[in-house]
Amino acid sequence: MIAQMEYVISIAKRYNHARTHYKDPRNRGIKGAKPVLGIYYLTEDWKLRFRKISRFMIPYYRARLWKRRKLFCPKCGSKFMGLVKKDTDILACPYLQRVQNVRGG
Ligand SMILES: [Zn+2]
Repeated sequence: MIAQMEYVISIAKRYNHARTHYKDPRNRGIKGAKPVLGIYYLTEDWKLRFRKISRFMIPYYRARLWKRRKLFCPKCGSKFMGLVKKDTDILACPYLQRVQNVRGG
């Protein structure tokens, strides 16, 4: 069903304004906007997406949260964006294409 790899970066409530009719003053603002619980995730091509989830799925997704970090490779001096589970995670430098001691911060 899910063909693409996805990286969940946050669990959040989003207010869905789709049904809000701004011409009617009674529906202006947050009133009439329905809170939607969901996850923000990054696709393989680094696009941020939102998907509705059930509240029973919160622990599941919380255990799978990734952190976005700006990383620096001391070997080749390049900066790149990476996803880590912990700040001590070691990522491969995309320029050197092999595992380096690159830390987030
Ligand atoms: Zn490098």
